[in-house]
Parts: sequence; structure tokens; C-alpha cells
Amino acid sequence: MAVTKILLDESEIPESWYNVVADMPNAPAPPLGPDGKPVNPQALSAIFPGPLIEQEVSSQRWIPIPEPVREIYRLWRPTPLYRARRLEQALGTPAKIYYKYEGGSPPGSHKPNTAVAQAYFNHLAGVRRLATETGAGQWGSALAMAGRMFGLEVSVYMVRVSYEQKPTRRSMMESWGARVIPSPSAETKAGLSVRERDPNSTGSLGIAISEAVEEAASRSDTNYSLGSVLNHVLLHQTVIGLEAKKQFAKVGDYPDVVVACCGGGSNFGGSAFPFFADKAAGRQVRLVAVEPESCPSLTRGHYAYDFGDSVGLTPLLLMYTLGHRFVPPPIHAGGLRYHGDAPLVCQLYHEGLIEAVAVPQRATFEAGLLFARTEGIIPAPETNHAIRVAIDEARACAKTGEPKTIFFNCSGHGHFDLTAYDRYLAGELEDAPYPEEAIRAALADLPKVASQPPG
Ligand SMILES: *Cc1c(COP(=O)(O)O)cnc(C)c1O
Repeated sequence: MAVTKILLDESEIPESWYNVVADMPNAPAPPLGPDGKPVNPQALSAIFPGPLIEQEVSSQRWIPIPEPVREIYRLWRPTPLYRARRLEQALGTPAKIYYKYEGGSPPGSHKPNTAVAQAYFNHLAGVRRLATETGAGQWGSALAMAGRMFGLEVSVYMVRVSYEQKPTRRSMMESWGARVIPSPSAETKAGLSVRERDPNSTGSLGIAISEAVEEAASRSDTNYSLGSVLNHVLLHQTVIGLEAKKQFAKVGDYPDVVVACCGGGSNFGGSAFPFFADKAAGRQVRLVAVEPESCPSLTRGHYAYDFGDSVGLTPLLLMYTLGHRFVPPPIHAGGLRYHGDAPLVCQLYHEGLIEAVAVPQRATFEAGLLFARTEGIIPAPETNHAIRVAIDEARACAKTGEPKTIFFNCSGHGHFDLTAYDRYLAGELEDAPYPEEAIRAALADLPKVASQPPG
């Protein structure tokens, strides 16, 4: 009988997270403070608990997953690895397509893999409240659930355009007991300053981050939580790729190409980094990050030190950036609209060790619908980016006759994004490539520091 789902036992949930820093050819570029000097990790202790700061700067290959975190992971992990036989048939491809499904977590995406870990370490440090931002609402819902499990209060600054477009995500966060504030808000200096400049601002992830960081920095009982970008977040997400490797081993297969969509980089890092370990040891495997053409940070951004938020409260991170003042076109893949990308992903891309592609919005929905109509799962708009590229790879195999093994991460379901599908089906969705002038203009806004790389 041909196997469709490759399952693991609960006891096979990884016992450690994998830290890619141990296998990178060069040490990660350090975050810089306002003076242009590397940040002393202790400076982060106003907003992060000790263990997360240690993970942020660690180069240790394996970092143990605390048992209380694994216990909560067991509510939905291990996640299944599927062989997409019906999609393969529809494409008439000799390629084998596999996907891991992270949409079975309670909030419906991969994000609780890190939310639970972050809530745990904050709880352990005696913190009582967490502040965060959310774009489309997936991260906010993951942290709302995770905070609740450790008795933490959670406030979520939600990008206003999503707050208005996705009221059900807000309901979900409130059901878990979080407080949700549309951003820019009148509750923080950062929010107020944006509202003064632009009273009709629909918000951005960068602005919402500024608000959450400000709340955390100004209250001693409150820490900040970030859903992507930072090293410790990518670390926690490696449970995805680690499980996938065990699952491939069970069926005696291994991917030629690993595909994941990339917003801030935690989904890509979590899926691909465990395979990078093999690549670093000499194995042939391509790792492909997929982003929207309307927010093409990796493929068209500047490789430069920039702020992580739009107001300039965070340390400077070396990344591919569209400029911290970037306000993206309102595409539906809200989780992929960050102006930068994880420094670890950016450095590997800069060094030519991973690949990146940008894809237009309509083509992603076309791919998502083919997936829904063959495999059944209606994917999140973010996930559709990965599906687009997995399908393109499989179609290329149909031409060349190569029976490649393609693996992508199905990062979440699209049950809260059905209005986006309605609009696609009604022919109302548009492609919105990011204008070249805006990319050039962002250069002028980059912070001036001596260690800025040339070009
Ligand atoms: C947030 C999100 C992403 C993007 O994740 P990053 O880690 O920021 O790249 C992808 N898919 C889904 C379903 C998401 O919720």
C-alpha cells in the first residue's frame, strides 16, 4: 500500500533544537547599538529573559528543549509529513512531492513552535506580561494561546489594516484571553508619532513592533516577544525540519530541494536549517526561500544594517532590507510583509548557500487552489508562495523527466483567509510588484554606521 502520511510517535518529538550557527562558514554579523558598536547581549535584558538572550548569541549546535515545552508540543506535534500523490498526478510529474503540515496546531500555523518556548522561558524568569505585534494575526494568536498556557497576560498590537480585514483573528486572540490593540494606537509614543505624521495610517509590522517594544521596555513586569527574524525564533522552529528528516529516513527518501515561504524567515529557517546541516557536511540539497514580489526583501532589498522596527527602537540588524519605513502594498499574505528578513537567512543568502525567489500574488493563489483541489487542505496565502515554487519545480521535472524529491513546508491553513480566496475567485486580486523608485529611496533612509557593508 502506498503511504500518504508519514507519522512519528510522540516520543520522537525532537529533544533539542538545532542551531545553524554551528555550521555556518562565518560567524553571524552582530547586532549594533545606536553608537554603531556591537550590542552587549545584557542590554537586551530589559525586554527578553536570560535563556532567550543566551540562545540568541549561542553557537552551540544542539540546545535542549525543556520538557514542559515538549509536553505542550505534544498537543499537535509531531506533525505529519504527507506525500502529495494527488498533486503529483495532477501535474503529471515524475517528481515526488512531500509536505509537512503545520496547520494542525491550535492557532493553525507553525508559529506556536516558538510562542510556547518563549512563553515558557518568560514564565520561568518570573515575567507576568508579554507584549507583541501581529500582522495578519497568526503570530498574535500563537502567543495568545502560549501565554495562556503559562498564565501570562498578553497584549497584541495588530496592524490596523489586518485588524479591520480579519476580525476573526482578533476574536481568536481574545478567546485565549489576549488584549488586542489596533496599531498605530494612541497608547504609545511610537503609535502617536506615526498618527501625527499620517492620521490615516493603515499600519505596518515595523510600526507595531515599535509599539510593543516600547510597552515592554517601559514596564518591569512586561517582556517583548517576536514571532520571527531573531536567531532564537528560528532555532525554536527547527523542530519542523528535524522531524521532517526523521520522516524522510522512515521512507528511505531525502529531498533534492527544500522550499518554504519567507516573511521574517522563521518558517524558512525552521524548515530548511536542519537540512543545511547536511549541506554543510557535503550533501547536495537546494534550499529555496520564497517571498512575494510586492515585498521582495531578499531578492531586491539592500544588504545593510537597518532597524528591525520602523521607529528605530531596536538594535541594527544586518539584513536584506526594503528600509525600515517600508509600508507594503496590502497583499493578502500578511505574514510575508516584513521590510527585512532574519539576519541568519540573509547571511546564508549573501554567501550563496541558499536561494531565494519572488513570486506574484495571483500565481500563488492559483497554486494554492490546485493544492486545495488535489490534497484537500486550503492553505494560508503565505503558504501558497511555497506551493507555487514546489509546483514549478515539479513541472520542470515533468519536462526533463527527472524524478526529483521536492519538500515544502505547508506552514498553515487558510481558514481565516477565505475572503482572499473569494477575491481571487472573483478575479479581483491584483499583482503588485514593488516599485524600483521605492527600493532606491529606501537607501537614503538606512542608518549611517561605519560597519555598513559596501554597495
Ligand atoms: C507567519 C507565517 C509565515 C511566515 O513566517 P516567517 O517566519 O515570518 O517567515 C508563513 N506561513 C504562515 C502560515 C504564517 O503564519
